[in-house]
Amino acid sequence: MPELPEVETTVRGLAVLLNGERLVRVVLNRPDMRFPFPEGLVQALTGATVTGLGRRAKYGLIHFDRDTTLVFHLGMSGRWRIDPPEAAPHDHLLLETAAHRFALNDPRRFGFVDLVDTAVLDTWRGFATLGPEPLGPDLTAAHLLGALAGRKQAIKLLLLDQRIVAGLGNIYVCEALFAAKIDPRRAGGMVSRAALGRLVVAIRAVLLQSIEDGGSSLRDFARPDGELGYFATRFAVYGREGEPCPRCAKGTITRIVQGGRSTWFCPSCQK
Ligand SMILES: [Zn+2]
Repeated sequence: MPELPEVETTVRGLAVLLNGERLVRVVLNRPDMRFPFPEGLVQALTGATVTGLGRRAKYGLIHFDRDTTLVFHLGMSGRWRIDPPEAAPHDHLLLETAAHRFALNDPRRFGFVDLVDTAVLDTWRGFATLGPEPLGPDLTAAHLLGALAGRKQAIKLLLLDQRIVAGLGNIYVCEALFAAKIDPRRAGGMVSRAALGRLVVAIRAVLLQSIEDGGSSLRDFARPDGELGYFATRFAVYGREGEPCPRCAKGTITRIVQGGRSTWFCPSCQK
């Protein structure tokens, strides 16, 4: 499943070829993905010029000169194929500029797109309740202290709550808690301000490291079979059950289940 760094890398890759370009052809190959495609989408995008790209949480944004924004979510298996040599099954949406073709491919179809008036983007249904961007200025220790105050639920689960921080998935929550030396089982309201300060730094660091890792895949996106959005990155604890802790060497990375999902951590140095 694409996480925030993969969406960011996808957006950066698309921006290189799409920014400032006019769509000369738009094709829908089916009526829906997870949700129906917006009515009139082909007409709304054909002839429109891309004025910028962006990301909010795990959503990619393509802004057009018609005061509209195409919002896309990659779901479980979505990806953009750049200049695919031939049409493939599951290419649901095709955008063409004079020079390039961009196919939104998603075998499982948990992804979707929507077309939104740019002026009211912040209140779009997917964005209205989102917490601060993890890489933006609004994610601070003070924000977390307020949002977690009195909360008895485990910090791990609270960090997956998109209303508290936007766009964090299981991998990066595990990695950030490890980097900040916080026990994922600790009640949110019991995490000290100092630890939350470390957590903010850690969240940014693990995301930026991964985006940097993904940046190397950007060099590949111009390949004929170039696909954006998936790349290998290095994790300290995620998926490393049974291995020695890379930090304290005393502990063994342990997997537990919280809220039905796996958590990996070091019981020795995460307090
Ligand atoms: Zn350790």
